[in-house]
Amino acid sequence: MPALLPDCYHFERVMVSFEAARLAAMALATPLDLRDDVPLAHARGRILAAPIEAPRSLPPFDQAAMDGYAVHIAGKGGVPSVLPVTGRTIAGDPPGVLAPGTAHRIMTGAALPSGADTVVMQEHVTRRGDLVQLGLDLKPGAHIRRAGEDVTQGSVVLDRGRIIGWKEIALLGALGIDTVAVVRPLRITVLTTGSELHAAGTPLPPGAIYDSNGPMLAALLAGPNIDVVSLTFSDDPAAITRALQEIKETADIVITSAGMSVGEGDHVRDAVLRAGGELDVVKVAMKPGKPLAFGKLGNACFVGLPGNPQAAAFAALAFVRPMTRVLLGQAPVDRMTAEMTFTFTHKPDRTDLLPVRLSVERGRLIAHRCGPDGSHRIMTMACADAIVIVPNAQTAVEAGAVLEVLPFDQSHSDA
Ligand code: AMP
Ligand code: MG
Repeated sequence: MPALLPDCYHFERVMVSFEAARLAAMALATPLDLRDDVPLAHARGRILAAPIEAPRSLPPFDQAAMDGYAVHIAGKGGVPSVLPVTGRTIAGDPPGVLAPGTAHRIMTGAALPSGADTVVMQEHVTRRGDLVQLGLDLKPGAHIRRAGEDVTQGSVVLDRGRIIGWKEIALLGALGIDTVAVVRPLRITVLTTGSELHAAGTPLPPGAIYDSNGPMLAALLAGPNIDVVSLTFSDDPAAITRALQEIKETADIVITSAGMSVGEGDHVRDAVLRAGGELDVVKVAMKPGKPLAFGKLGNACFVGLPGNPQAAAFAALAFVRPMTRVLLGQAPVDRMTAEMTFTFTHKPDRTDLLPVRLSVERGRLIAHRCGPDGSHRIMTMACADAIVIVPNAQTAVEAGAVLEVLPFDQSHSDA
């Protein structure tokens, strides 16, 4: 038996609730406030680092909303029903001038000629040579898009923290903005540990397994605002310590997978401390995922995930995702609930995370249990698309109960 380190003894005594661990994970992180300037063409999915003030109004000038004729009809007892057509403006032309007592041919999007106050739709006129006969039903001011009616120059059109999607790109493009200040991507290093691990595509010796957590965590966390680097180590305390010492200099979040317990092959907690890290949370009253740790490693946030794939994934969803949002300066995602279709009981000493499949039935979000149980089962997880959080206080879940769910994919809000 290896000697018990004093720290191991300490670890065994401290167990925090799932809710306390969620708060602790977010409290570890502080917004990074680092920015990059990117061309608009590469801005999709990125987060605005500063508010956008409109450099110009939209529309930028009074323009026709229809193909037709620009005329002046206000302030007179009426307008002659037949007018000579004296000018023409199509979209892209500089604004023309409406000669008094005439009509000016105009196309949708074209600048309204000075002196005009109304556009009459071409469907409501009769054109004869250079003359146009207007219909009787003239509405002063009709069919004009006024300068600034959509966006006023100088107004804040997008707030800091906004994720740039297609509609934001439309707005920025219309305003003529070609470069945007965005939050610099987070740098996450995932260090998968385990002497049993081999990479896919290499021969698998007896007793070994392929590494699924490394690729899984990279896929779960990586995105337009998160760069993930994955490294794999065997259960070698010195090598893990050295790697952590190096990684802490460059990563914003350091994640380890496996080796978090106090078994003979479990060296990660000790390696974090030897690498100069501090652990605030070392055990969480949850299933799966009890041997889990958070803390700081230099300026980086550290999260030590358990090795079983469901435990690693669920803890990444519950703790690492919210942490990344804080670092990226984003508000936490609103919690979602769903209605259970199954019963479940557990002891009040832990929170259970259950893989479920979500469906929408008559407008309500419904959670269906995926099985069989076992945090090592990857197939069960592959059939699910969310986890249900069964709080410790809720010892019996009846069908119809409404509980919090964490969707695997939060594409509407993902950074
Ligand atoms: P540990 O947390 O090291 O005790 O590992 C718990 C279980 O997870 C063991 O069955 C490991 O073989 C498995 N495991 C650890 N790391 C990985 C990984 N990267 N991919 C797949 N399974 C893993
Ligand atoms: Mg292990």
